[in-house]
Amino acid sequence: MATNYIYKINEIFYSLQGEGFHSGTPAVFVRFSGCNLHCAFCDTLHQHGMMMSMQEIVDEVNKYPNASLLVLTGGEPSLFIDEAFVAELKTATGKLVAIETNGTRDLPKNIDWVTFSPKNAFAGGEAEPGVLTRCDELKVVYLGQDLSQYDRIEAKHRFLQPCFSPDATLCQQYMQACVDAVMSHPHWRLSLQIHRTLNIR
Ligand code: SF4
Repeated sequence: MATNYIYKINEIFYSLQGEGFHSGTPAVFVRFSGCNLHCAFCDTLHQHGMMMSMQEIVDEVNKYPNASLLVLTGGEPSLFIDEAFVAELKTATGKLVAIETNGTRDLPKNIDWVTFSPKNAFAGGEAEPGVLTRCDELKVVYLGQDLSQYDRIEAKHRFLQPCFSPDATLCQQYMQACVDAVMSHPHWRLSLQIHRTLNIR
């Protein structure tokens, strides 16, 4: 698929990873347009995007040689990529390739780091069931749901993250709920969206 295929890319940018295990790590983000879920809090403009070839993606990523981490995000990147895409990206950029996925699709086996963020609790009745059963990092947006539903997922690291709201009072409530949940379930850790605090992308 990789060489001749054209991908709909929402944006490519260089920043710090704001969440989870690699929080604070410089990374190039390749954000795909399009998702198979419809979460109420989604902040990706799926209708926006530029059509890019593999070479154009590589050229854009390689403008940021300082970053050793490349994050495929979305949207849902697994809808658009395969092993050939990941292999070509790794060879052409020399970066570690990570993915942020909602876990509803099988993934190419050659991805270096998988962040699974299940969204079924927020995606309404149309939600596709998760197929992923293992990952490097499980990152759950927490609204008080029963955490035992995630026990079946094998993960090296487990993070609970407060749901973002523009309402400061609600944000504080979500934050406190997360802190309480982590303290009573200590195999989970707290993840904060530090890019929001730092006011960076
Ligand atoms: S899974 Fe992610 S990208 Fe897809 S709708 Fe939900 S928040 Fe948006």
